[in-house]
Amino acid sequence: MIRMKPVDVVIVGFGWTGAIMGMELSEAGVEVLALERGNYQDTSPDWAYPGIADELAYGIRGKLFQPLARETITIRHAVSDTAVPYRQYGSFLLGNNVGGAGTHWNGQHYRPSPEDLEFRSHIAKRYGEKFMPADMQIQDYGVGYDELEPFLDQFEYVCGTSGRAGNLNGAIQQGGNPFEGVRKRAYPNPPVADTQGARLFADAARALGHQPFPQPASNASQPYTNPYGARLGPCNLCGYCERFGCYMYAKATPQTTILPVLMRRKNFTLRTGSHVTRINLDAGGKRATGVTYVDAQGKEIEQPAELVIVAAFQMHNVRLMLLSGIGKPYDPATGAGVIGKNYAYQMMSSIGLFFDKDTAINPFIGAGAGGSQIVDDFNSDHFDHGPLGFIGGGYIIGGQTGGRPIQQLAVPPGTPAWGAAWKRAAKDSYLHTTFVGTHGSVMAYRDRYLDLDPTYKDAFGQPLLRITFDWHDNEYKMTRYLTERAQEIVARMKPRTTSQTLRKPGDHYDTRQYQTTHTTGGVIQGNDPATSALNRFQQSWDVPNVFVTGASAFPQNLGYNPTGLIGGLTYWSAKAIRETYLKHPGPLVQT
Ligand SMILES: Cc1cc2nc3c(=O)[nH]c(=O)nc-3n(C[C@H](O)[C@H](O)[C@H](O)COP(=O)(O)OP(=O)(O)OC[C@H]3O[C@@H](n4cnc5c(N)ncnc54)[C@H](O)[C@@H]3O)c2cc1C
Repeated sequence: MIRMKPVDVVIVGFGWTGAIMGMELSEAGVEVLALERGNYQDTSPDWAYPGIADELAYGIRGKLFQPLARETITIRHAVSDTAVPYRQYGSFLLGNNVGGAGTHWNGQHYRPSPEDLEFRSHIAKRYGEKFMPADMQIQDYGVGYDELEPFLDQFEYVCGTSGRAGNLNGAIQQGGNPFEGVRKRAYPNPPVADTQGARLFADAARALGHQPFPQPASNASQPYTNPYGARLGPCNLCGYCERFGCYMYAKATPQTTILPVLMRRKNFTLRTGSHVTRINLDAGGKRATGVTYVDAQGKEIEQPAELVIVAAFQMHNVRLMLLSGIGKPYDPATGAGVIGKNYAYQMMSSIGLFFDKDTAINPFIGAGAGGSQIVDDFNSDHFDHGPLGFIGGGYIIGGQTGGRPIQQLAVPPGTPAWGAAWKRAAKDSYLHTTFVGTHGSVMAYRDRYLDLDPTYKDAFGQPLLRITFDWHDNEYKMTRYLTERAQEIVARMKPRTTSQTLRKPGDHYDTRQYQTTHTTGGVIQGNDPATSALNRFQQSWDVPNVFVTGASAFPQNLGYNPTGLIGGLTYWSAKAIRETYLKHPGPLVQT
């Protein structure tokens, strides 16, 4: 095996959180090396127009995604089932290459509600411990909203997020989200202009007494220079965000917000084509000595480092911890162990609205995040769950993210799937269709977890990650309640006809249907090493020179998209490393 020169910090994976850590830790003056399994990619030349607007290549065949023939995940619904490999993209879309999923995300950029971060304590206090089903394992994050606020703000200013504040220093702001936690300053950019579908939705929601507001978008509404000096251009609402790189330099990605500055730093190195296979430990197993990776020529290489940041995306983070033997693997039979614990997904429903020809929606005007309107009245614990008998919720969204010809062309219910009648319906509907959706939370349960598959292996001969997951009653109730509220708004919008997707009791988790890539848990943070893998600074309880970033740290899933919280937590953790850990390496929280 080849042994490389030691570095101070090695970062595994170079997506959103890897880039943030690279920027913050190199600024502290230490030598930082990022290892990314994929290739280098940037706005120019990789995502230049018109090549990037090839929906077949990027949207359907997933040109930017992880090649599933080399490494995938196996999935089963229950502990008693046999898991089988996920071979065709559907349910979730894993990132690959520099920028990770941060290059082909939508840019929907939320903060958590204050109660989300102390969810177990909050629910117990408001409704009593018995309100939670016995097998529900929700927990607190160990860091509160007020502590995290400056770091959520920092990430928004790096991204140039466009939105309208709802709560500035405790004063509720007209037209913003009245449920948000206190923010110290406004969004860096004003909201992206509404699409017509969003306007109709907001008018109807307001008439019902709800409080709609523009979706916070990391699609810039105007030219913007971020605190690092990186510049974004204004979004032209072309609708090619989710699954695509942004040719307009308008979507916040590591490439547009961080790399122009980071790549120039002398104490930062990025090594692509470097697939990390394990984190190495010393003989006592209490200290990481670096990582082992396989380079583009297939050579196995040892990279010694004083500090290891695991930033490989939620699922890969869990797998690397299991492959490296850091932390005790979770056992669903006993409930003991922490690595793989509390895996959760999200639950969506959607309604397609088909209007008559005198209502022009023009869906080709859209952005992954901007231009939509949101109702947050039924998210988190913004409403009384007592009489409803479930925990959690989500937001209701109105508008469209684009009108791409393959995946975003909807036809009214009853239309044949092909042929002349389909063509006629597509032609008649295209300009007159919009959507209302719900984006719901999913709680953590004792029997929903991640471990190593006993049968299937990746291209390097290592066991794949196995998901054991299906929906629970709580979530069926949550999604029905939320969808009924959405239907009320839709009825006010007076479409000619509608179509609806809603998961009902008895429906299983289906890997063929996309429902966000907002997977969470598996290396969760908390205050107790018996129930969490990381302390409140995302530092491993077991091996203190390992920090793990990303949604693997979430103890349960939120109703919101995760990346705002992921970015905030990464900045929070980076500050603790810079100001405390680098001066006194060791546990940041004493047990
Ligand atoms: C289609 C899509 C749309 C989305 N839209 C939104 C949205 O609108 N709002 C929102 O909040 N979130 C959204 N997300 C989620 C968002 O992209 C993620 O939350 C975010 O990118 C996670 O950051 P990360 O640093 O944890 O992982 P990533 O950004 O995925 O980066 C991980 C990196 O690690 C690399 N890597 C993995 N394993 C290894 C290894 N063994 N060795 C070396 N490198 C490795 C990967 O190649 C990748 O580059 C979306 C995701 C997808 C796929």
